[in-house]
Amino acid sequence: MHLKPFSEVTLNFLARDHKLFIGGKWRPGQSDRIIGVENPAREEIVAHVRAASADDLDAAVSAARAALDGPWSRMPPAERARLLFRLADLMERHAIKLAELSTIENGMPLWMAHAKMEGFCPELIRYYAGWTTKYGGDTLPAVPIRGEADDWTVFTLKQPVGVVGAIIPWNSPAAMITLKTAPALAAGCTLVMKPAELTPLLATRFTELIEEAGFPSGVFNLVQGYGDDIGSGIASHPGIDKVAFTGSTEVGKAIVRAASNDLKKVSLELGGKSPFIVCADADIDKAVPGAAAACFFLSGQNCMAGTRLFVEESIADEFLSGLVEVSKNYVVGDGMQEGTLIGPVISGKQRERIRAFVLEAEESGATKLFEGDCPDGTGHFVAPTIFSDVAADMRIAREEVFGPVLAVQRFAQNDEAELLARVNGTHFALSGSVWTRDISRALRLAKKIDSGQVGINAHAAISPETPFGGNRQSGWGREFGREGLDAYFKTKAISMNLGPHT
Ligand code: NAD
Repeated sequence: MHLKPFSEVTLNFLARDHKLFIGGKWRPGQSDRIIGVENPAREEIVAHVRAASADDLDAAVSAARAALDGPWSRMPPAERARLLFRLADLMERHAIKLAELSTIENGMPLWMAHAKMEGFCPELIRYYAGWTTKYGGDTLPAVPIRGEADDWTVFTLKQPVGVVGAIIPWNSPAAMITLKTAPALAAGCTLVMKPAELTPLLATRFTELIEEAGFPSGVFNLVQGYGDDIGSGIASHPGIDKVAFTGSTEVGKAIVRAASNDLKKVSLELGGKSPFIVCADADIDKAVPGAAAACFFLSGQNCMAGTRLFVEESIADEFLSGLVEVSKNYVVGDGMQEGTLIGPVISGKQRERIRAFVLEAEESGATKLFEGDCPDGTGHFVAPTIFSDVAADMRIAREEVFGPVLAVQRFAQNDEAELLARVNGTHFALSGSVWTRDISRALRLAKKIDSGQVGINAHAAISPETPFGGNRQSGWGREFGREGLDAYFKTKAISMNLGPHT
């Protein structure tokens, strides 16, 4: 298999001194902690990044506050839109180099990273750029204090929520940084961005594009660092008005605790254990590859991953043998290798965690129906794995593995209540899908699945327009769409008494 080399541009980028971006200036982090960035396919340290200190974080928050109170707040929305459109164009122009950085630090196949840089990320930025000139408050037919209608004009203003501290995970670096940046800046907020310590590089290059696009100083600030100092520092910082977090449920709870000190606003996009439900009348030719992709995409390191397959008893054997055949096509390897569909998982620690889940599933009586091939030796590779005969109370059926491991349960045709009890029986409630040709059954189930979104004959069908987020312990609030923008505004009601009567 051909291993594509990294470009000169990317190799030169790695060798650079990676700095923080605060108040429009690049400056070295002041902490003693140095992040070694690993290529998970080769277990090589490819770059070093000096973390931010508490003083650096204070400086970033002050710069964001000054920008919020300064020229950024006076800039016409159309000008904010122009800057965002420019950022989207720059991402497209540099798509392949950005993709290489994603592959180096995250491991995802290059073709997949490239598709995100050319499609999803710039389109998301453009979607929110469009809102800047269209979003506003309402004039209300309100008459306070038993007055007369002619005397009163009541309206709402939508004002930016303020300085936003964004804390993001490593599983899809470009999508995560874009998803926090685009709506926040479209709303007129300013940002202090903390990428995951495992994937700081794409964020650095993205920040250079922010600078090149011409955003005023202090509007976007980049601080690198670990969760236990810079992450928790953001969550409790008195100068930050809102924390926008994507990551694990456990850390989400810690952020809520830290942010409760001054009751700052918090939005949370957390973990998932999403159901993929296949009814007997489903289009099997679509549902079989759909089930494999839903679980194995991004090596299973995807919050929406369809990691619980529920298949109707009468077609289960046929469906599972088809699924095993399709799963054999999921080539595991280096993301720079042609033909790779599944890259490595992010770290040795994550690989061991997944292996422990697999071992425990075997010991607790699940049947290992399939285990794919996977390179030996160097690289944090995990083979795609399918377990059948999984009981609803096994850990593999309840907890987020964050690896390419599928847990299969069967269901009987005539007991939807029992099926739904199992489907809704985890503490996660993020996503899910129903596969059937019977539209009544599809809608009946879709309405009763407890999650932020449900696909019908599609899984994880996200788009810039479609709200996305979790119920229960999968999160607070929604991203994407108009609701994703709402989260960066506060509403002010203004009631004007214009008449003589009150
Ligand atoms: P994580 O929670 O360990 O880390 C996420 C971020 O939080 C990192 O930047 C980390 O440095 C920071 N952090 C860690 N401890 C912190 C603390 N005490 N205070 C403040 N910040 C802290 O998650 P991860 O391992 O990077 O990502 C995987 C998780 O993210 C999975 O659970 C996955 O489901 C979830 N995720 C959810 C979505 C979604 O949209 N719902 C999307 C992607 C990933």
